[in-house]
Amino acid sequence: MSSSLLHTAYSPESFRKRGHTLIDDLADHLESSLNRSSAKVINWHTPEDEKEYWINFLENGKEESLFKKIIERSIHIHHPKYLGHQISPTVPMTALSSLLSAQLNNGMGVYEMGAASTAMERIVTDLLCSRVGFSEKSNGILTSGGTLANLTALLSARKKMVREDVWQEGNGGKLAIMVSEEAHYCVDRAVRIMGLGSEGLVKIPVTKDFCLRTELLESCYQNALKSGLEIFAIVASAPVTATGTYDDLKAISKFAKEKNIWMHVDGAHGGAAIFSEKYKAVVKGIHHADSLVIDGHKMMMMPSITTALLFKDGTNSHCTFEQKADYLLQKSEGEDWYNLAKRTFECTKYMMSLHWYSLIQSFGFKLFDDFVTTLYDMGKEFAGLVEKDPCFELAVQPMSNIVCFRYIGRGNEKTKLNELNKRIRRQLLEEGEYYIVQTNLRNKHYLRVTIMNPFTNQDDLKRLLKMIKSLGNSLHPN
Ligand SMILES: *Cc1c(COP(=O)(O)O)cnc(C)c1O
Repeated sequence: MSSSLLHTAYSPESFRKRGHTLIDDLADHLESSLNRSSAKVINWHTPEDEKEYWINFLENGKEESLFKKIIERSIHIHHPKYLGHQISPTVPMTALSSLLSAQLNNGMGVYEMGAASTAMERIVTDLLCSRVGFSEKSNGILTSGGTLANLTALLSARKKMVREDVWQEGNGGKLAIMVSEEAHYCVDRAVRIMGLGSEGLVKIPVTKDFCLRTELLESCYQNALKSGLEIFAIVASAPVTATGTYDDLKAISKFAKEKNIWMHVDGAHGGAAIFSEKYKAVVKGIHHADSLVIDGHKMMMMPSITTALLFKDGTNSHCTFEQKADYLLQKSEGEDWYNLAKRTFECTKYMMSLHWYSLIQSFGFKLFDDFVTTLYDMGKEFAGLVEKDPCFELAVQPMSNIVCFRYIGRGNEKTKLNELNKRIRRQLLEEGEYYIVQTNLRNKHYLRVTIMNPFTNQDDLKRLLKMIKSLGNSLHPN
């Protein structure tokens, strides 16, 4: 006998009713965000207060208002004054494909557990590979985020390039990869997870623009060899997260080829520049990469998290995880592209290909071009506004939609600028009209803006600078 509680929980009628209400609420939310009629991007509360609120809500809150309250008390990514971390304002269609994935809940591990989404995954990764300029031998997978994709790629690299079989025997010799000192922290983490320790990361210094100094590659490589390391891969950032500046992929690929090491491109943020007719030069040489990561949830307007991991030679990705799991994965002749768990970290994953496929089907690659190009244009425009004003200092000329700058005022004591910029950013957060973030570069504290919304305009940006200036005036540390 099934309980009436279970019947209530699975009621199609209440799903229909709440679903319609939720879509209406989300559409209203989208509208009031995009047209700026909602005054704040974020309603700031301390973590303790927020926790208190939800503890109380669990007891006393009305079930019907739960989703509405969640919307109210979450950061509004679709607001044009959201200028913070690199998360997409999702195209609403992909919210619908998320819903579809959640309710169908096909597990994707093997073909039978997601026929449509498995076929779609192959189709979209093939399309991406050909867009990159890879040959027929290429193919890819979708996985849960850039962090996991970078680790997966480095595991494939080790499997392919290293003589010892670390997968079977464990770490013996001293293996290492090369990467710029500005690379995303997840590369460092991946290396440690792989058991290579801190020695396993050979860090290359960067230029004044925070790009890997390619002229130092040879000497860093030789030094590593001298200290007994075996280098098997190099990671290029496209771009570096903090400053949005791209490593020179062409020069790095030349070096990788010369040394016969694997080249991995971490294009979690800006790999999507392959779609921009105007800006694709920033990823020149990307087709030489052995593996490449592009996040769907950053510059491709999709919900978190979905990442494409593409391999120049697809067979390399099939050897990454050689394992027996007889109940799930049988050994097969040839490439059984349709049993995806053989190649991904995940066993179960959500039907992420639905987002990619539905965006491509409805709008074509042109949508990605429009998005990336618009945002990169705005990055340049914003930098122009910053540069024109003597109260501000730009950290570096942007190569993307990420802009780091700081308030310097007029004749302030330089030593207090770090503290002042921290206070400015904190005040902005608490006021909530805008959301921006911050970063530390060469011991200077910078404000950091990422223009993620194609509807952010010049007036939004001018007003932000005006607000920062007036905060700068009033918040001086003593
Ligand atoms: C965001 C980012 C990552 C991490 O990706 P997630 O999808 O957040 O796991 C890795 N590398 C770079 C360059 C990034 O910008």
